Amino acid sequence: MTNKVVIGGNWKMKLGIDESIQSVKGLIVATQNLDLSSIEVFVAPSFVSLSDVFTALKASPIKLAAQNMSEYVEGGYTGEISPKWLKSLGCEYVILGHSERRRIFGESSELINKKVHNALTHDLKVVLCIGETAEERASGRKEEVNAEQLSISLKGVNADQLKNIIIAYEPVWAINSRGLNPTGDIIPATPTQAEEMHNFVRNWLVSTYGEQGNQICLQYGGSMQPSNAKELLSIPSVNGGLVGTASLKPEEFTEIIKSAL
Ligand code: PEP
Repeated sequence: MTNKVVIGGNWKMKLGIDESIQSVKGLIVATQNLDLSSIEVFVAPSFVSLSDVFTALKASPIKLAAQNMSEYVEGGYTGEISPKWLKSLGCEYVILGHSERRRIFGESSELINKKVHNALTHDLKVVLCIGETAEERASGRKEEVNAEQLSISLKGVNADQLKNIIIAYEPVWAINSRGLNPTGDIIPATPTQAEEMHNFVRNWLVSTYGEQGNQICLQYGGSMQPSNAKELLSIPSVNGGLVGTASLKPEEFTEIIKSAL
């Protein structure tokens, strides 16, 4: 991977084709006077918008990511998307194991592990999401849950392949998704909570992979916004952000990008 801070925008199923084009054009304008060479920025539109967004990004340093992909390469898998096609559409990254995929669509870490290998084989960089629910945290299992997601999702991945992987620690309770949050409140992780778990993930990676575990980029995700981005990104073990809601509006996303410069 890169030692650069990486800021990613996950547009989920929230922007249609025209809105995605509008949003990416707005982002290009809002960031045009910034020197982005010291960081990496990507946006992840829906599958149907990838091609148009890639065309709009042609002269921009901002990279393209997909939000998911198949564990298969090709064949009779109705509705699935091959990593080969994502690559040919200009994707550099693919987000895998997002908590919405795990919880709503029942994706297991075993399935995500197959997708991780398929992505790496096809030259896509992986943003692997992990994170505990509110209940798992309340029952004192946050370390256990994150360690299990890491060890199963990364099974068979060697230290050399880590350079093409980002880990996004996204506590489910902090994600700005009222449908998944039993209280209906938006509760970002405090910098102390984020730091504690990022240190845990970093230690897990180092104890599993040795020195290469120190090089991997750890993004924080969960209600990152202009008001808390600077503080979160100043934590030594937080090397970037995966941003949902605040990435939909170019001005807000640009403020977060500026916090990383
Ligand atoms: C996400 O879903 O990856 C995310 C971080 O969303 P939000 O920024 O809206 O909490």
